[in-house]
Amino acid sequence: MKLETMRTWAEIRLDHLEHNYRALRACAPNSRFLGVVKANAYGHGAVPVARKLEQLGAEYLAVACLNEAMELRQAGVRAPILILGATPEPLAGMVVDGGFTQTVFTPGLAQALSQAALERGRRARVHVKVDTGMSRLGLLDHDPRQAAQAVQALCALPNLEAEGIFTHFAAADGDEGYTMLQFTRFLDTLDELERRWGRKFEIRHCANSAAVLNYPCTHLDMVRPGVALYGHLPDQGCGGAEGLELRAVMSLKSRVAAVRQLPGDTPVSYGCTHKMGPQGGRVAVLPIGYADGLHRALSGKGSVWLAGARRPILGRVCMDMCMVLLDEQAQVAPGDEAEIFGERLPAEELAQLAGTIQYELLCAVSPRVPRVYR
Ligand SMILES: *Cc1c(COP(=O)(O)O)cnc(C)c1O
Repeated sequence: MKLETMRTWAEIRLDHLEHNYRALRACAPNSRFLGVVKANAYGHGAVPVARKLEQLGAEYLAVACLNEAMELRQAGVRAPILILGATPEPLAGMVVDGGFTQTVFTPGLAQALSQAALERGRRARVHVKVDTGMSRLGLLDHDPRQAAQAVQALCALPNLEAEGIFTHFAAADGDEGYTMLQFTRFLDTLDELERRWGRKFEIRHCANSAAVLNYPCTHLDMVRPGVALYGHLPDQGCGGAEGLELRAVMSLKSRVAAVRQLPGDTPVSYGCTHKMGPQGGRVAVLPIGYADGLHRALSGKGSVWLAGARRPILGRVCMDMCMVLLDEQAQVAPGDEAEIFGERLPAEELAQLAGTIQYELLCAVSPRVPRVYR
């Protein structure tokens, strides 16, 4: 479909992705680089983003689940892919067949992978996950001796290649004390593994975007940024990002469907929550709604960029459309382009109005919205 005929689309600037990649790489010059492309690359399109990262030299990619990993392999991506989530044990054979790297933290999955690898005469590559305080996935034992023993037991299974070990920070965008506590637990466990069991891992990693930017000491053998690659800070107060000038990769755009002159006191949209003033006014209808990823929570709150200015959203956001207010001077016609967020309007700002974070706005851009790569 031609751009001129698209109702709503997401423009993806791969040149900005490249800029962000180089900027982050320069922050961690001595570490390998894993690009997090889970959740369809935070809404940007997993395959084109993974291909670009691979071409730029990223050593690793990470996804949330087996399906996402398979999508990339089927598209010809050859870089190592780490599956961050737990894979159900019956699917262990597919992990081995795909040549994926699986996160492990329980004997059950480790054994299933070991067994599947044995049957195939292959090795299953794993990264062990340690829970140092995120309380999500990982071997949970804050006593480094016990944790090390449990890690060692997993890694000793036949036909497993324990290439890496990692942990995940809960608050690297704000709480230095807690981040350092987690980091220390991780280092103590690594230390114990080496001293007591003689086990060293080739790839030790823990730094998400916030830690890449804020805590160089945590970079270790590999960094693992997600949101910063897409040009967004994990948090407004991310001090380490100064001078980095990350560039937003996605701009969400829509094309004016109609321009209407509404009489005075006319209500607008479902529930009649907004009423035009006594003089009436001009309104543009945009063919983007919550089914495209424009959160309904932005009803009567957000604004869009259209004809050189911000235009406030009037009344409720509908499933497929929303209405914005035009002033007298605005020169707007059907077919004109509006930006919902992106280079003109930071996703951060819209996220705050919607009571959420930029991550969610990016991921919410629905499959109905074509991605246009530049
Ligand atoms: C999502 C995720 C990341 C990336 O986090 P960002 O805040 O987007 O940089 C890193 N590691 C793990 C385990 C994740 O789940």
